[in-house]
Amino acid sequence: MSATYDFDAAIRRIPDFPKPGVLFYDITSLIGNAEAFGAVIDTMKHLYQGRRIDAIAAVEARGFLFATPLAYLLNLPTILIRKKGKLPGATVERSFSLEYGEDTIQIHRGDIPIGGNVLIVDDLIATGGTIRAAVDLLRESGACANELFSVIGLPFLGFRELLSDCSIETLVCYE
Ligand code: IMP
Repeated sequence: MSATYDFDAAIRRIPDFPKPGVLFYDITSLIGNAEAFGAVIDTMKHLYQGRRIDAIAAVEARGFLFATPLAYLLNLPTILIRKKGKLPGATVERSFSLEYGEDTIQIHRGDIPIGGNVLIVDDLIATGGTIRAAVDLLRESGACANELFSVIGLPFLGFRELLSDCSIETLVCYE
């Protein structure tokens, strides 16, 4: 079922959110549809089971929704990649540019498997800036971060170029 599942039909579009002219792809309709959500997690399991992965890193906040069920099914630890100031323990961090301004992500230093392969999961890759920062932070902290998964991809925003040194899986791409 999952290989041919119509994920697109389960993703709601919200025009002009969060600002005029932006078409927002809303995954609340996907996670609110048990069959569609199950098909996403089943597809992820088939993509990554048997692969050499040591941990799954989840990008705040919607990445958490898809990363943790997969980690459970593959019996792997989950690492949280959070906005600055949310994690209570000792962290490593990296700042990156947004359209307007800057943001900073953090990971608990002790959660990073040195020399291990980390799969990074998010709900949507737009420009790729957020997940690029996650890749770079994990790599400079001693992990191997080459595998990226996102439910939705917007390749017209250039993420394939920005992430050309990574292997990227998406379930739906919009032009
Ligand atoms: P990027 O850094 O430009 O690739 O933006 C990706 C981040 O923005 C992800 O963490 C997404 O959750 C969020 N994002 C951007 N656009 C959308 C959207 O249309 N729907 C859901 N999330 C979005």
